[in-house]
Amino acid sequence: MPQILSGKEVSLSLNEKIAARVAELKAQTGRVPHLVAILVGNDGASQTYVGAKEKACETVGFDSSIMRFDAGISQEELLKEIDRINSDDQYDGLIVQLPLPKHIDEEVVTHAIHPDMDVDGFHDINMGKLAKGNPGVKPATPYGITLMLKHYGIETSGKHVVVLGRSNIVGRPMSLLLSDSSDTGNATVTLCHSRTRNLAEYTRQADILVVALGKPEFVGADLVKPGAVVIDVGTTRVDDASRERGWRLTGDVNYAEVSPIAAAITPVPGGVGPMTISGLMMNTLQAFERKVQNA
Ligand code: NAP
Repeated sequence: MPQILSGKEVSLSLNEKIAARVAELKAQTGRVPHLVAILVGNDGASQTYVGAKEKACETVGFDSSIMRFDAGISQEELLKEIDRINSDDQYDGLIVQLPLPKHIDEEVVTHAIHPDMDVDGFHDINMGKLAKGNPGVKPATPYGITLMLKHYGIETSGKHVVVLGRSNIVGRPMSLLLSDSSDTGNATVTLCHSRTRNLAEYTRQADILVVALGKPEFVGADLVKPGAVVIDVGTTRVDDASRERGWRLTGDVNYAEVSPIAAAITPVPGGVGPMTISGLMMNTLQAFERKVQNA
């Protein structure tokens, strides 16, 4: 049977380390890191994600504030709020939960966040630093995945990693992080997308396969090299009448087919999801530490 890469367990262990560092910083500065989340409208999934982030802050000893705005808020008003938070020294990290209502341009809003406070790591300055191999704030999900690989002692140096999906929040930054020259990089990376021909030809060469498609159970055993490490980022709600809530979360990997041949695999849920929150907590801690160092 494969090794189960439990994001849930890794995040618990990271939480303890973060909490210990927060206690030290509090003794030194009298303050703890403060994360602000902006939530526009009342989308159910967004409320759940922001709630989970708030709970994580509480667990590690951060302060957190959720700033809620009506779905009708204008882009201008929202930008003013972001500006206000950017220049208020009591805040260290700021995230704007996506998606935003259609009349608001997500690109404009993302770039209004000060790059030092951009703890989701989506700002062009942070993406640019990542592309140059000198990361600033790392995008939370790919960063969380590298923390998980490190925790389990999964070597990336010299390995062939195939990343499925080239989104700006997962696939593309994942390919950059794993190919940089750090101790969690140095891999040879192939980035595949919807125009890739003969997908199996690439995925079957992967020592580590990272899948971020949003296509439930797309990756079957035919796409995986026996003995590979399989990281499933996908989280799609699929109908499930046997559950009280009527749906279940499904990954992009067919777990029943792939787990018998993989060396290690992440479950969904409980795999990459908790690591995204760990990435966010680490980024917020580092934003605070930078501020303390520069004070
Ligand atoms: P996205 O922006 O929709 O990107 C999907 C990518 O998959 C695109 O690059 C697309 O290629 C590629 N693709 C689609 N069909 C393909 C095919 N048949 N063969 C090869 N490539 C194909 O998605 P995302 O934001 O990266 O999210 C992906 C999944 O991860 C979603 O289920 C999302 O909910 C989940 N997610 C989970 C977490 C977490 O914390 N667990 C965090 C973020 C995202 P093109 O570019 O050519 O269209």
